[in-house]
Parts: sequence; structure tokens; C-alpha cells
Amino acid sequence: METRFKTLDIIYQIHAEEMSEETWACARGCATCCTRNVTLTTLEGRRLYDWISSTAPHLMDGVKKKAQAPRQIPTYTVNGLTDMCMAGDEVPEEPSDPGWGACPLLSDEGLCEVYEARPFACRSMVSKNRCETSGFAEMNDLTLTINNALMQYIEHTDDKGLTGNLTDTLILLEERANQAAHEAETLTPPFTHFIANRPAQVLMVPPPHREAVGKIMEMIQQRKG
Ligand code: SF4
Repeated sequence: METRFKTLDIIYQIHAEEMSEETWACARGCATCCTRNVTLTTLEGRRLYDWISSTAPHLMDGVKKKAQAPRQIPTYTVNGLTDMCMAGDEVPEEPSDPGWGACPLLSDEGLCEVYEARPFACRSMVSKNRCETSGFAEMNDLTLTINNALMQYIEHTDDKGLTGNLTDTLILLEERANQAAHEAETLTPPFTHFIANRPAQVLMVPPPHREAVGKIMEMIQQRKG
């Protein structure tokens, strides 16, 4: 488990370094992307749950209070999506609506209560413009590719785990038995609202971005040691 956590931390760190190379409109208190549509792997969920239980356990009350509220339930993972694209299969649409409401970890002041432990889906939501005025996030193609490749890497690192909505994942991992099963890599479906993770067969990287993403992958390997 420690090795998997270490890989996750390295990915978070390298992603932060890459994103710091550019100027973004995102700022403290800007929370348009903090909706109930955040999905994550169980590896990230465990990282986040451990942080919450040791730092701010009361946050789980808010998570559980909105447990049944509408939220994005994933129907495929990022590696599953890649496999579908490679096979030329049609990708099904995932119901998702920002109007379903705010993330249960967003404070009334519009601040993330778990900022240092937030999952990759949140870290990857950067924008060149202010989303609350434009209505959408704007990022360049390379950033999208890097985000996608690192998301694939995280799922690959947790390939015996699951992907689910942030709310469902935190509630799942609050159970000691599920934590133990995840540590033992035996956390397998059927679990309502979750999809089984998969290893990355190939990274979805278009030719113009291969050099940049290749360097990032090398950095990850070097830091893993
Ligand atoms: S975890 Fe934090 S950054 Fe992510 S959606 Fe929730 S409030 Fe926003």
C-alpha cells in the first residue's frame, strides 16, 4: 500500500510542477468546478479518507448527509475508455449535471475543506479563463493529454481497485473491512455504483505530445526509484 501511495504522491507532485509552468485563472474561492460530479479511484479515496479521519473527521457527516443526492455515477474508467477507443467501440454518455449541486467537501465560503488531499480530478481542473463567467474551463490540448495520461497512471497503480463518485468512495472506504480488502487488492465488484479499475494497456497520447508525456513518465520512474 505504501508503494502505491508513494506513486500517487509523486504523480500529484509532478502534476503540480507541470501546471506551475503556466498561468491559470484559477484562484482561492473559485469553485465552479466543485460539483457532485467528481469521480476517483479507491487509491485516491483511501488517501483522502485517511486525511479526513485524521484531520477533520466531522467532514464525513456532510458527505453522508448527501449520500443519496444526485451525483455522477461512473459507467467506465479512464482506462476502460481508452480500451473502448482502441477497439473502435462507441463510448456511452455518462449522465452528469453541475446543477446537481456542490461537492460535499466545499465550505460555505467556497473553499475546499480537503485541499491538500483533494483527488486528481480536482487537481486537473485548471482553466485559462474564469469559468463562472465563461461557463466552461479552457485549457490547452497538451494539458488535457497530460491530465488524461496521469489519470491512466493512477488507475493503473490501483488496477485491482475501483472507481466511483467521491461520496460513494469515501463511504465505502470508511468501513475497515473494505479498507483491508483494498489493501489486500481483493476489493472486487459487485459494489453498487462502482466500476472495476483496469491496467493501462496503452496511454492515450497524440504524436505531438509524446515527447512531453514521455519526459513526465521518466520523471515518475526516477522518483519511484
Ligand atoms: S474535493 Fe475539494 S477541490 Fe474537489 S470538488 Fe470537492 S471541494 Fe472542490
